[in-house]
Amino acid sequence: MILTITTTHQPATDLGYLLHKNPARAQSFDLSFGRAHVFYPEATVERCTAALLLDIDTVGLVRNRRGPSGEGFSLEQYVNDRPYAASSFMSVAIARVFAQALSGKSRDRQEMAETAIPLQAKLAALPCRGGERLLRKLFEPLGYAVAASGHLLDEKFPEWGESRYFTVTLEASLRLSELLAHLYVLIPVLDDEKHYWVGSDEVDKLLRHGGEWLASHPERELIVNRYLKYQRRLTSEAIARLMDEDQPDPDSVESQQAHEEEEVEEKISLNEHRLRAVTEALSRCGARRIIDLGCGEGRLIKRLMADSRLEEIWGMDVSYRALEAASERLRLDRLPQKQRDRIRLIHGSLTYRDRRLEGFDAALCVEVIEHLDAARLSAFERVLFEFARPRAVILTTPNIEYNIRFEGLPAGRFRHRDHRFEWTRREFQMWAADVSHRFGYAVEFAPVGEEDSEAGPPTQMAVFKVDKG
Ligand code: SAH
Repeated sequence: MILTITTTHQPATDLGYLLHKNPARAQSFDLSFGRAHVFYPEATVERCTAALLLDIDTVGLVRNRRGPSGEGFSLEQYVNDRPYAASSFMSVAIARVFAQALSGKSRDRQEMAETAIPLQAKLAALPCRGGERLLRKLFEPLGYAVAASGHLLDEKFPEWGESRYFTVTLEASLRLSELLAHLYVLIPVLDDEKHYWVGSDEVDKLLRHGGEWLASHPERELIVNRYLKYQRRLTSEAIARLMDEDQPDPDSVESQQAHEEEEVEEKISLNEHRLRAVTEALSRCGARRIIDLGCGEGRLIKRLMADSRLEEIWGMDVSYRALEAASERLRLDRLPQKQRDRIRLIHGSLTYRDRRLEGFDAALCVEVIEHLDAARLSAFERVLFEFARPRAVILTTPNIEYNIRFEGLPAGRFRHRDHRFEWTRREFQMWAADVSHRFGYAVEFAPVGEEDSEAGPPTQMAVFKVDKG
């Protein structure tokens, strides 16, 4: 397993100062799983290459119980790809051997450490579960030119097909610390080997090295899930901390309370009224690409799928568990490919700017804003109306005046324990008018559900459209 890093930034041998490793001298380091060697195959003023070679002690790994677990056949403990393939060991080695460089520090060339320089990283035998497509999806958004050549399982038997190993070259102009952090996080993500135990300090490591760039990476969920080996408690902690959300675990809040609101509102089947009102308003917008923000378990998406005018239907939610339930409800893995291609579920939070939300004809936001902390509302307004800027927004929220008509609901209580506020008609209309004024939208209001002569409708809806005038 070998990683080489090359620069043509002159004098190229300054790479040695960035890595804190002298180009004139080969060095070796003991690690818990073997030895790492650093040397420079080329070191001229024009071009300098540093190599990190791992020599993994497979037998030692088994003795120390750090190798593949006892699953599978026993010889597998000794005969496996670990000595040859770049894997999580490479990340550990990067963090140990290039610790200073990874943290962006250089004793003698700090300015250079903070400068984007042309860098090329090459990894031989990088295992990629998900193939070249995934490799590109991970590195290209970070600005890399990616070249990959696959390896056959066995050159003598080409009919056996491709293996999952690639020789990969990544090129970009960036800081060395960024390159190292990308490799540190993404090599194990590509490998996706499930054999090692993930402790909660892995969340810290992921956030330390991924903090800045991971939050806006389009494959953020996949990266976090694979890196943390799909352990839900850790992944939601990581996503929440990435987003700096100081909120309770969205999954547990959602699952405990999902049905409370439904029970309160049941008598008038308000949910049905709402779905119909939103669907009708949407169909008047003539939208083709739409996104359901805070889509929950996907009820609205399910209904919208029947509308063939909608070419793309996305759903976004902060709760990973809700998205899993949505995926089940929509039977995503069993849909014909053409249908499947219309739908996409993404994990994210409405209080953080997210480029994936840009370019939609319409965004739906049904019974979501009351779940946001009032202090985060202004962030939400900018995320949706300033940055995502769909041509139309259809938004609903409870009308608190109507709560006195719900028999099961004690006076003064909100309809759902997770609601942070509920608004009167006047409060909602003032808010919506202010938002549309500030961001250049026109807004209209409509009641949803059976209206009470005094308390008004149980749900209130606003339809915002980009104001051309
Ligand atoms: N729109 C759905 C679900 C409403 S419940 C429906 O009408 O049935 C509110 C949803 O908002 C929940 O699924 C919750 O997880 C989601 N949510 C709460 N805060 C969010 C945030 N900051 N970003 C995105 N979704 C959020």
